[in-house]
Amino acid sequence: MHQIRLEKESERVMEGKILHDSAYQRMEHRELDIESAGKIDGIQGEYVREIKLTSKMKEADRWQLLYYLSELKKRGIIKKGLLSYTKEKRTEEIILREEDERELINIKNRIHAIIAQELSPKLVKKSICSSCAYYDFCFSGERD
Ligand code: SF4
Repeated sequence: MHQIRLEKESERVMEGKILHDSAYQRMEHRELDIESAGKIDGIQGEYVREIKLTSKMKEADRWQLLYYLSELKKRGIIKKGLLSYTKEKRTEEIILREEDERELINIKNRIHAIIAQELSPKLVKKSICSSCAYYDFCFSGERD
């Protein structure tokens, strides 16, 4: 929201980009913009595809895909999702249910409430932080 973009310098994001460039080559539709709602990596038949290196952020990956499915549904396009983890050689089917749509509204409201705050929320250290592109930004005021 505030145009702070640190992904370009992240090794992990770069790894993901290389994976995307190779994994999506065979797909019918790649890098589709859903107006202002985001960019879908690939569509294959009845599925929206998301390919990740590992399942470290499984829950976030699932909600990302559910968000795409719901944005497509709003535009009259009904799809299912496939979430693949290359290192684990595993793929999950993701179906958008009514309760997911309700929870997506709650998630969006919580995001907008954070955006509306004058200051960032207090730092919460999580195990995923060490591999996040925003680590230096979030932990800049922290001591070891
Ligand atoms: S470093 Fe941790 S708190 Fe900061 S954006 Fe990344 S995951 Fe979130």
